[in-house]
Amino acid sequence: MSGAAKETTYVGTPVSRGIVFGPVHVIARGFAAPEVYPIANTARETERFKDALARTRKQLEGLRRHMESLSGNEEGRIFEAHMLVLEDPVVLTGVPKAIEERGQNAEYCFYAVMQNQLESMRRIPDPFFRDRTTDIEDVCQRVLRNFDAEHEEAAPDEPDHQHLLVAYDLSPSATAAMDRHQVLGFATEQGSITSHTAILARSLGIPAVVGIQNAVFNLRALDPCILDGYKGKLISNPTPETVARYRELEEQHQRRRKELDKLRDLEASTTDGHTITLSANIEFEHEVDLVIRSGAEGVGLFRTEFFLLEHEECPNEEEQAALYSRVAARIAPNEVIFRTLDAGGDKVPGEPLSEPEPNPFLGWRGIRFSLDRKDLFKEQLRAILRAGTSGRVGLMFPLISGVGEVRQAKSLLAECVIELTERGVDFNPDIAVGAMIEVPSAAMVAAEIAAEVDFLSIGTNDLVQYTVAVDRVNPRVAKLYRSAHPGIIRLIKNVVEGASQHQIWTGICGEMAGDLTFLPLLVGLGVDELSVGAPLVPLVKQAVRMLDFTECSELATQCLVAAETQHVVELCREFATGVYPDLMQEESRGPTAPSFASRPA
Ligand code: PEP
Ligand code: MG
Repeated sequence: MSGAAKETTYVGTPVSRGIVFGPVHVIARGFAAPEVYPIANTARETERFKDALARTRKQLEGLRRHMESLSGNEEGRIFEAHMLVLEDPVVLTGVPKAIEERGQNAEYCFYAVMQNQLESMRRIPDPFFRDRTTDIEDVCQRVLRNFDAEHEEAAPDEPDHQHLLVAYDLSPSATAAMDRHQVLGFATEQGSITSHTAILARSLGIPAVVGIQNAVFNLRALDPCILDGYKGKLISNPTPETVARYRELEEQHQRRRKELDKLRDLEASTTDGHTITLSANIEFEHEVDLVIRSGAEGVGLFRTEFFLLEHEECPNEEEQAALYSRVAARIAPNEVIFRTLDAGGDKVPGEPLSEPEPNPFLGWRGIRFSLDRKDLFKEQLRAILRAGTSGRVGLMFPLISGVGEVRQAKSLLAECVIELTERGVDFNPDIAVGAMIEVPSAAMVAAEIAAEVDFLSIGTNDLVQYTVAVDRVNPRVAKLYRSAHPGIIRLIKNVVEGASQHQIWTGICGEMAGDLTFLPLLVGLGVDELSVGAPLVPLVKQAVRMLDFTECSELATQCLVAAETQHVVELCREFATGVYPDLMQEESRGPTAPSFASRPA
């Protein structure tokens, strides 16, 4: 293997706190990385590589003849082009060279060389080259399969080693499926703090950094690394001094977490007696333990799509009722609010689409999908109604854009009540029904929506993206994603007022709820409930307990007349730093929430 590598720091956006140490495992776009392990006999690995290439050539030749016999020369040429990939010097000489230099197994070296090649092509603006990457990916997968086709190799030394995952991008479902014991932390080139991948990392407690440039390109598998989810850094081949410094930092953080645990049974009340309901956002049943330990007063947002869409087939009413009932029973006497299926956007679509949507965030997602797929929707509604006998249950509809959708959803809910009554099944007809306010049009007509429901929950992640027209997962425009835009503050105020006209409560369940910079403002705007990732509950509670409600209201009054984001940020930062300087110091060390949203662009 080549000599000791130099310490290198990659900087990105921190999205999930924690410091972890481990060997890196790199996966890029297109297809999964094969196992990587050190080898001693490089000549033997080169032979294995040549055998895999020969097998691939033979298969491609067979495919070419087959296609020609079926549909003529044109189709056969596709496989001719595939064969050319195998003749490329990058492959023929690059892979044996990589085996020599890296001292790693042949399939991994092949993968690494091809990924670099593919990445270079993807970054060429010419669509011709970009389109060619799909073909090359196809050939690569075939070659990789052909390594397996040979006799069983001796098992690699550490097939399941713990590692830090580095990827070009990770889908929310890949993140959800991560084995927490194997993946110590991850870093991606794409993504942003309010992407579902980042949200999931926070819920799963996996330290994560997004938006690091060129790491996939430059890192070498098994390189020792440190991932700093507070500062947004990935440090490869750290020196012993850097390791010691980070071990000390991690210990400090552990001590701090223990202190916060002491607040568990206290209320989230301001010094002048104004109480906020502080609840938790979850995606998985196993997080219930964390919610209970965090001292949250229930679950303010259960994102049911991760349960519904992780199976090949959507779980039926019985299976859903069983899960929802278990969660409700364990959270009781506190409430669990189940958000009905919010498929689409950056999450898996509710059903396979024949063509990708041009603008998934403006497409078939949230309540739109449910109202079009009434049978599926009603199964979920009945399951939630049934869980209402096991604990305190609420439900809310995502991506509501106006009153009509709420009425339609409620009328389907009423049908479910009749159906369950006719079936003689045990259920609770009196569960609280809410609407999520995450589309500007809904925020504008909040009072009319409030007349129809029991509560409003503001999803700021989407409300911000739709109001300032900034894709929440696109790192190129991340700095324009401004939660503190005066337009957002005024919309939140409008929602709170609309709700209070109808004597119902307003919550915030987007990531902004956990941003300590804006906490005094949200409290001052009159929000009644805040729902944040369970790991953040103690920190937010400590902050609320240091606030004075009257002062927060004055801050809100000032922010409501501010013309610029920057002004709102300055007012909020000055206020928060005055009240809890230590907590702000802590926040500046890492993401309690979308802290970049609090940075003026
Ligand atoms: C939101 O949009 O703020 C929200 C809570 O929903 P999600 O992040 O799941 O879209
Ligand atoms: Mg949303």
